[in-house]
Amino acid sequence: MLIRNGTLVTAEGMLQADVRVEGERIAAIGDLLPRPDEPTVDATGCMVLPGLVDPHVHIALDTGIYRTDDDWFIGTRAAAFGGVTTVVDFATQFRGQTFEEALAARLEEAREKAVVDYALHMMVTDLPPGKEGELGKLTARGVAGIKLYTTYRPNYYADDATLLRVMRAAGALGLLTMVHCENDAIVTEAIERLKAEGRTSLREHGRSRPPLAEVEAVHRVLFLAAEARAPVYIVHCSTTRSVDLVHEAAQRGQLAFAETCPQYLLLDETAYEGSHPEWYILQPPLRAAAERAGLWERLHRGWIATIGTDHCDYALGQKMATGSFLTTPGGLPGIETMLPLLYTFGVLEGRIGWPDLVRLCATNPAKLFGLYPRKGALQPGADADLVLYDPEPEDTLSADRLHTIAGYTPYEGWRVRGRVRLVMVRGQVVISEGTFCGTPGWGRFIPATPLSIHHITLPYVRGKNT
Ligand code: MN
Repeated sequence: MLIRNGTLVTAEGMLQADVRVEGERIAAIGDLLPRPDEPTVDATGCMVLPGLVDPHVHIALDTGIYRTDDDWFIGTRAAAFGGVTTVVDFATQFRGQTFEEALAARLEEAREKAVVDYALHMMVTDLPPGKEGELGKLTARGVAGIKLYTTYRPNYYADDATLLRVMRAAGALGLLTMVHCENDAIVTEAIERLKAEGRTSLREHGRSRPPLAEVEAVHRVLFLAAEARAPVYIVHCSTTRSVDLVHEAAQRGQLAFAETCPQYLLLDETAYEGSHPEWYILQPPLRAAAERAGLWERLHRGWIATIGTDHCDYALGQKMATGSFLTTPGGLPGIETMLPLLYTFGVLEGRIGWPDLVRLCATNPAKLFGLYPRKGALQPGADADLVLYDPEPEDTLSADRLHTIAGYTPYEGWRVRGRVRLVMVRGQVVISEGTFCGTPGWGRFIPATPLSIHHITLPYVRGKNT
């Protein structure tokens, strides 16, 4: 197939060129003439992006307390509609499980259902002293990232000694350690105080997890990572200070990376005062409005490596079941809306450029999690994962036209520009003119290679403007 006359966007820039797809790969890029009988797509007026790589997704999530009712077909179909052609999700090691068991169970869930490609991080919950060698099995099986939590007792919480010990072992293997940073004691005290005052409605959610809890944990985790000589990735940074701490660590030579999410760039804590506080229950919570501008500014400076959605497809019924933040599952659907939102409020408003969007949402996630250049790149030999985005049409986001089971979107009624016209995953068209035409089971597990210093030299991750 030949995709003609589009504007190609890479992390480095933009160019007018044609793209030839042969089988599952990009065969050529340039000024290309169609061959006899070659199917062509006229991409005039459209941006041609590498398929987005979402580094932080929770499809069919089971926390041990709450579960989402989506599955790998529903989750990856929503991804496809949003131009995301690779999701990096998590295999959870439940207590008593080996990494192999956790990985096998998750791969089985995805195998016959996924319509886009996927990779997996491992949520490490059970790695007693002396067992660190088990981490080597992850790299052998194509897992390049592990995740640890500084909060959520008893199921995910890792104490400081565990963080240090696991990061030491992970760093030596080239595994990138992702950490959910919130100081558990500060969060616990805030929650206990609100409980004692009888203030447990959804409106109080933001007060239950103060920004200082996040900032303190980021500070500590960066320090421990430096001592462990381990590369570290701070998930869902919601405050400017978190990003600044990561940036300062990187300036000192640490391999430290910050992720933020569309919700922290676009929403703020005033949402809890509105008529749908249940739409905004997530951890970390939405912050003060000033943080949004600060995060956009740091994206522009190149201090944030990636944008991930932290997509969780909890249904509205689950969100509204109790009216208390103590017993409401945290997490928002977001994989389908990321691209139009970041284009409209990022690129069109001049906060970031198209190449920044591609760097943050495709190239850097692929580099950091060992999928590059197969994923996240528009170049011959890369997988033919392509998105044609028409930047002109106007649209209004609405839950009834999205493909999650949530039954709501935090962006209900928001006006956005542009539309995903066509999405291809390894040469197969999965979205065409707003219609899903993929096949369950087409999506494949993409084994990741351990972190390669070659791919993550800091200027690459940061972009050219710093
Ligand atoms: Mn998450």
